[in-house]
Amino acid sequence: MSTASSAAEDSDESRYPLSYVSKKRKRAEVESTSAPKPRLQSDLSVTETINQLRLSSSLSSSYDLSNLASGFEMNADTNNGANTSDADNINYINEADEKEIYWWSTKASLGSLDIDEKRLPLVLARDVTFSQFAKRVEIIKARRFLDYQNGTVTIIELPTAEHEITHAKFTRQFTSAFNNVSAQDDICVLGAIKLYTNLPSNEYQEPDACFIPRRLLGQPAQNPCDRNGNPWPSIIFEVASSETLQHVKAKINKFWLAPNRCEDVIVIKLGNWERRCRNTTTRRPLRRLRCLKFCRAATLRQNPNATRFEPIEEIEFGSVYANGRESQFCSNPHMKWITIDCDCIYADCAQPPPLPSFYTIISSQQPYPQPQSLLQRPGVAIDLYDIQQDIFLAMGPN
Ligand SMILES: [Zn+2]
Repeated sequence: MSTASSAAEDSDESRYPLSYVSKKRKRAEVESTSAPKPRLQSDLSVTETINQLRLSSSLSSSYDLSNLASGFEMNADTNNGANTSDADNINYINEADEKEIYWWSTKASLGSLDIDEKRLPLVLARDVTFSQFAKRVEIIKARRFLDYQNGTVTIIELPTAEHEITHAKFTRQFTSAFNNVSAQDDICVLGAIKLYTNLPSNEYQEPDACFIPRRLLGQPAQNPCDRNGNPWPSIIFEVASSETLQHVKAKINKFWLAPNRCEDVIVIKLGNWERRCRNTTTRRPLRRLRCLKFCRAATLRQNPNATRFEPIEEIEFGSVYANGRESQFCSNPHMKWITIDCDCIYADCAQPPPLPSFYTIISSQQPYPQPQSLLQRPGVAIDLYDIQQDIFLAMGPN
């Protein structure tokens, strides 16, 4: 993690309405127990990770928390020179060159832009009206890769293999929890649909994937997401690769979790894979992998007056570091998973269905010995190991 992003997270601290308010205190605890050790290269990321583990440990009794914490300290300690961090701040924004400016003026596809991911975020055009912008991106179905603010068009993400495989895999795992359910209880995959954040001005956003209970479709919604009267999806899934977490959080707070819209936003943040280095022992690509869950209901349960949504859970699922070190916390199935509560999925439905799949982990390794009552509350639990494996595959042999 860069110093800049650490500083940004510090400044965000005072706004955290949730468990994060105790971050400073927790950090102090951690520092006091590890005082004699040499100073870590990235203190904040280690203590944060420990805090995340503490948070996520409430989900499962299968972890030995102290081992995990010390394992991460070791990982971070030896992560010298390896860039597995991601720049969460937009401290710099590149400007389009002549070729890129010309690309914007044509009808060419995003693939034909042939841009280096490291140049993102990149301003493509200024003084553009939203309708001009919409017209251009609709031709190439690329709204979700571009940001539009006050007339400025910025490219923030690319449809890379790892970006695309991540939401495809998530979608497949999430929907498989509803295999064999009745039509009444089924979930619809809406994919990257247009969600109108301002109906009068026609401004809209596109998530990477979204989901809604089937029974909510086909009847006029009180707070529609489009002119056809469709309801907002209950669950949104976003992958952020080049896109910064800061930008995703802004979208979540401004659009997705605004009142009477979505319930949960699940984000997978793929850290940079700069210089294409590999772990010298395992040969796996160096990368930081995180899954963040934003839940409207859980935030408001903790603080009914909350106006800002921060992740209620942040799970590292197998970050790979240099010098033979690798996070061991997601090296096999059923070690790390994200749970989406049944009550959130069916938030606007009278009676959520009691599906058997709500009590087990959705994993490629099934059947697998699972302790009884694994989950605190019924929901879809997705094995992050499967997603991690597909991400590594998509990153290719080099
Ligand atoms: Zn929720």
